[in-house]
Amino acid sequence: MGAEAFKQAIARGHELGLHYMPYINVNLWAYDAPSYNAEVREAGARFIWGPEKILGMRFKYGTVDMHAMVMCPATKLWQDKVSEMVRKLIQEYDCDGIYFDTLDIYCMQCSHPDHGHPRGGGNYWVEGVREILGRARRECMAAGKKVAFSGEFWRERYIGYYDAALWVSTGRAQFIKDVVYHDYLTTICGEWHQRPVVPYLGSLFIAGQTIGPLGLGEKYLNETPDEKVLGFLHYLSDCRREFGLKYVNLGARLRNPRITTPLPTVDAGSETLPVVITSAWEAGDGDIGCFFMNISDQTQEFTFEIDLATFELDRLGKYAVTKWELGRQTPVAAQNSGWLTGTDSLESGKMMMFEFSSTE
Ligand SMILES: [Zn+2]
Repeated sequence: MGAEAFKQAIARGHELGLHYMPYINVNLWAYDAPSYNAEVREAGARFIWGPEKILGMRFKYGTVDMHAMVMCPATKLWQDKVSEMVRKLIQEYDCDGIYFDTLDIYCMQCSHPDHGHPRGGGNYWVEGVREILGRARRECMAAGKKVAFSGEFWRERYIGYYDAALWVSTGRAQFIKDVVYHDYLTTICGEWHQRPVVPYLGSLFIAGQTIGPLGLGEKYLNETPDEKVLGFLHYLSDCRREFGLKYVNLGARLRNPRITTPLPTVDAGSETLPVVITSAWEAGDGDIGCFFMNISDQTQEFTFEIDLATFELDRLGKYAVTKWELGRQTPVAAQNSGWLTGTDSLESGKMMMFEFSSTE
């Protein structure tokens, strides 16, 4: 593409309201990169086990198949290199964030004698990645650039160093993680290729994930966009923008609202779920949002119960209740300030949210 064309694409995207978060890799230095040389080879990470072999990796980005040196994040050489890449992308190309690919998934017991860390075990790898992420943030802030960082997989050890983590699963483990951590570190996901689109993406949206295509290269780029997928993505995006943002993206997760009607189940790709799924969230301003989505292929009627007393909030107030659907808001008569039951129906792939806004 070339540097100038890349800059122009970013500038044009900014005019359209887009933000750019390119990938860089926090562990690997490709053998065929112009910057790769004998010094890099000498400084690369080394195995602790067996003969002290230099650690090389074969990896694939989309259609690009290459070999690379695993770099030890404890070394100043590698810290400086990542810093240089971040500075170029953020300050010269005007990107809006960085996706730090792999983070520490190549975490090894490095036995290099000249890296200044214990040979073998220790916490230097994690500390090194923290230094890389922390330094990137400090240098962007010093340059007056407001950035967002994301990275591969959800890692408690990097909370405070990045803003969003790649996460691809749902279900019980996801729920527990969200309850504890969602308002500290949000999650991004994708990879719906060959999965049931509405059940899978719907369940991810309800679980508070930011949906985006993951998986590079031919899988998405060489295929004609699927109208059903695009339509559903636009619907989710519009709902998030209109009423979902402060809850599913930025809120703290609460217990799921209850559906009291027996419902059939549907294959959601990685698990089996009821045809109507729910989630509840407390926004930073104290408002509460209760989401319901029909992930089946036909209209569903159901009875539900929302009891704010089960959410274990710090305090309960008096609330005005509004039912939100895309393009429509309907006031709901409050029932005992925080307890709501009703029978409703949702068309296939559609969602609604009951919002409890404090009136005190
Ligand atoms: Zn090392």
